[in-house]
Parts: sequence; C-alpha cells; structure tokens
Amino acid sequence: MGSALEGRHALITGGGTGIGAAAAQHLNDEGAKLSLLGRRIEPLRAVADGLAGAAVQCDVTNPERVRAAFDDARAANGPIDILIVNAGIAESAPFHKMSRESWDRIVATNLTAAFDCARAAIGDLLKSDNGRLVFVASVASLRGVPYAAHYAASKHGILGLMRSLAAEYAKTRLTVNAVCPGYVDTPMTDQSVARVSEITGRSEADSRAVITNMNASGRLVDPQAIAKVIAMLCLPHLGDINGTAIAIDGGTSA
Ligand code: NDP
Repeated sequence: MGSALEGRHALITGGGTGIGAAAAQHLNDEGAKLSLLGRRIEPLRAVADGLAGAAVQCDVTNPERVRAAFDDARAANGPIDILIVNAGIAESAPFHKMSRESWDRIVATNLTAAFDCARAAIGDLLKSDNGRLVFVASVASLRGVPYAAHYAASKHGILGLMRSLAAEYAKTRLTVNAVCPGYVDTPMTDQSVARVSEITGRSEADSRAVITNMNASGRLVDPQAIAKVIAMLCLPHLGDINGTAIAIDGGTSA
C-alpha cells in the first residue's frame, strides 16, 4: 500500500470487471478515491464497496449520461484528477459479412465514447496539479487483426486521440498515455473463446488455446500487470511520460 495518489480522484470507465476492476484495486492501493462507471450496477458495486468507491451506472455511448455521470462522480469524490478510459467491447466477423450496425456499436463504444469521456473530464484534468489520462487501447492499436477490422480501427483511433491530446497539452501538467494489452485473462477474452467455440465447433479448452496462442508468449496476460502499468502512469513524479503507447502483450507486437 502506498500513498502517492492520496486524495486524488480517479474515474474508471468499465471499472466493475477485468482490467478496470484490477486498475481500481491498484489505484486504491496508492490512495486514490475511486469512481467506477459501467452499464451493470452489480459488478460496479461489488468492486466499489470493497474499496470505498462510488459506483455510477452509465452507458458511455450516451453523451448526456456521460456528462451526468461525471457530475455524479464529482459530487461523490470532487474534481477528477485521473481518468482511465477503459470501457470497451469486441466482436468478430469476416469483413465481407461485417454489418454496419456492428461497426457502429464498436466505434461508438471504443472510440466516440472515449472522446465524450475525455471531453467531460478535460477541464478538471487541466486544473489538477498532476492530471492523468490513460486510455486502454490494445495490441489491435498497433497491428491489423483478421476478423476484427472494426475493433482494430477503433483501437487505432484511440492512439490518434491519445497522441493528439498529449501533443496539444504537452506544456501543461496533464499527461496522456495508452496501454496496449495482448489477450488478457478477462471476461472479454472468455467471450472471444465462446465465439471461437461457436463458429468452429471446437471445445472450450481448444478454443482457449487458439486465443492464448495469438499472444506470442503463448499465455494470456494477467490483468494485474495491465493495472500496475496504468497505476504507474498515474504517479505524480512521472510527468514526463507523455504520448506513449505501452505494449503489454508478451512480445506479440515486437
Ligand atoms: P471486460 O469485458 O471485463 O471489460 C469491459 C468493461 O467495459 C466492462 O466492465 C463493461 O461493463 C464496460 N462497458 C462495455 N460497454 C460499455 C458501455 N457502453 N458503457 C459503459 N461501460 C461499458 O473486458 P476487459 O477488462 O478485457 O476490457 C477492458 C478494456 O481492455 C477494453 O477496452 C478492451 O477493448 C481492452 N482490451 C482487452 C483485451 C483482452 O484480451 N481482454 C486486450 C486488449 C485490450 P458493462 O458491460 O457493465 O457496461
């Protein structure tokens, strides 16, 4: 347990599960006050209650809800010092069968909502003496992904947003960075495994092996490792790490 982030307010989208929940734990360990956003209130409450954080129900694809939820978070914990843009969804389809609806869903959640969340917090982040904005991007931000053109396009877009904000605010106290995980042991990967099983008829174990071997390491990334890097990027004395995309993918993008 540290106190480097004592008194700072960290808002995490998708904070009830997977990488977001792990990041909540690590930021809490450094002393941050937490607001966790997501569509389902139960997982948010389960994490927030254990960490004395605020659980705020919010579909980040609804810009009015984003503004209202960020206000609720401020009412609970004060101005936002740290924003972790983590909420995301994945789908897969061969490109010739990819529907416009699926493209819109993915881009709305993974990219447009990231814009809305960053816009909703930017005033606070710039007023903070050490504002921190961290995007959870992906190895799919760094290379193309067969059967996931929409997902990879949305995650490439996140890096464009991240780098532009880092450059625009370089002379301020705000830093803007991204983490780029390979396949991580989270509910999203469980869903990918289920999709492989459904499409190929393979067993759960064989489908998990297919996904796991998409990481060069042949193993899934531990969400705790992603969370540790996220929390590190939020430390006050690391103000010169700005505009970086840190791959945590077992060497997949090497
Ligand atoms: P999870 O599915 O556990 O996390 C996704 C979170 O986003 C959930 O808590 C979900 O909560 C929330 N979310 C999804 N849509 C919305 C929405 N419209 N509004 C608000 N919250 C939403 O998986 P991960 O932890 O793995 O995913 C976290 C991030 O990491 C994502 O951006 C993902 O793209 C990225 N990532 C994941 C990888 C992996 O292998 N798992 C690899 C690389 C990147 P709820 O459903 O309740 O809204």
